[in-house]
Amino acid sequence: MRRTVFALAGMALLGAFFGFASVETLATPAGWITAAVRTVITVAVLAVFFLLLPRWFNLPARIFLAMLSGALAGWLFKRTGAESFAIDYLNIFGALFILLLKLVVTPLIFVSILCGVSGIGDPRKLGSVGFKAIAYYLGTTSVAVLIGLLCVSAIRPGAGRSDLQSAAGAAPAGVESVQARPSLGRVIQDEALPTIIDNPIMAGRNPLTIIFLAILLGASLAALGARAQPALDVFRVLDKALIQLVMWVMQLAPIGVFTLMSKAIAELGVDYILSLAWYCLTVVTGLGLHFAFLVGIVLPVAARVSPVRFLRGFAPAIGLSFSTSSSSATLPVTIDCTTRRIGADENVANFMLPIGATVNMDGTALYQAVAVLFIAQVLNKDLTLAQQFCVFLAAIMVSIGTAGIPGGSIALMPLVLKQAGIGAEAIGIVIGVDRFLDMCRTVVNITGDSVGAIVVSRSEGAVIQPHAVEEQAPHG
Ligand code: ASP
Repeated sequence: MRRTVFALAGMALLGAFFGFASVETLATPAGWITAAVRTVITVAVLAVFFLLLPRWFNLPARIFLAMLSGALAGWLFKRTGAESFAIDYLNIFGALFILLLKLVVTPLIFVSILCGVSGIGDPRKLGSVGFKAIAYYLGTTSVAVLIGLLCVSAIRPGAGRSDLQSAAGAAPAGVESVQARPSLGRVIQDEALPTIIDNPIMAGRNPLTIIFLAILLGASLAALGARAQPALDVFRVLDKALIQLVMWVMQLAPIGVFTLMSKAIAELGVDYILSLAWYCLTVVTGLGLHFAFLVGIVLPVAARVSPVRFLRGFAPAIGLSFSTSSSSATLPVTIDCTTRRIGADENVANFMLPIGATVNMDGTALYQAVAVLFIAQVLNKDLTLAQQFCVFLAAIMVSIGTAGIPGGSIALMPLVLKQAGIGAEAIGIVIGVDRFLDMCRTVVNITGDSVGAIVVSRSEGAVIQPHAVEEQAPHG
């Protein structure tokens, strides 16, 4: 009881801060009313996510509810003209959540690959797992791009849409105009929090270098045999400690997902998404078909794991990747779901999943192909078969180099556009809805990684069995 009173008092303080800091003026009664309403909204959101929902629902269910209610709230914020409150202030929780996940992810990539490689130990077995991983990655990514090309050629969402041509090179729609002075909430999200939470040593480093070093060090530790045991024990404990850290951070997931989702919808607006509905539908259809291929065909055939079992175990990772749009930020949860909840071999999963999160992006490859062909359709450009083949290859290569962060694809799209003879400024046609499609393709990216780890585990003789199906205590 006393704890609840303290919690409510803290929430009221935070709510008042958000409410009053976010209004432009307090000189009018309307300003005071707006501040009071926003205070109440913040307190209600905090109370629901920290006091009420944990009593009734486990973590995956709370994340799912957060996604739905976040979308609804974002739409309401946009309709009532309060999008800046959602984007600049409420989303402080979302920003904090992503920063914390990213903080853990780089050491986790390093330690988990190292443990995976040294755990597999035998160089021949390592070679066999590595070979299978590469074959799986290239095979499934090629299928993804083919599905994308077929969908966009069949649906032709860009045909007759010359109205969109003016967007090539224009400022991306749906993205807020640059403000002269950022709000206090923006400063907190973009400067204050990253100053404390961004890891200065690891941040911005190329993950491929980290992967490379981890593989080499893991192999050399394995080669040392018994002498390396103390060091390996330390890394194994560190691996468990990092996963534990993620579990703590995950207690912020429901409120983080809620605010990220409402920010995304408030920023874009449902009307804007609707104007590009056919294009979105084409991408989502392609992604859906590839998801069905992975979960409905590859998984049962190659690993004898039923889709229902997979989806039950993998639901938290799906929810998280959808709302964060980041394979890297989702990685800790992808590992947890794939090993503990579904039961893939720990060494194989520890080795393959961090690499997969960086280089295996089926959803991204599919998306690049669809986006570039859609843009070509809008610009009335007919691509030759040779050009389409170049797009196919470029989409695969670009997906390997894309960072597992929100909007990672956009940075590399000019390379794929070039294969179709189109300039980079044409990205303006699709960038407005990129955030929404990013959410969808990230789900497919991490699903491909997880299915791959399960399939290779199985082919190496592992029995796929959950370690513990129950959720951790929701209160942390
Ligand atoms: N957001 C995606 C991911 O993290 C990358 C992309 O932009 O396609 O998997």
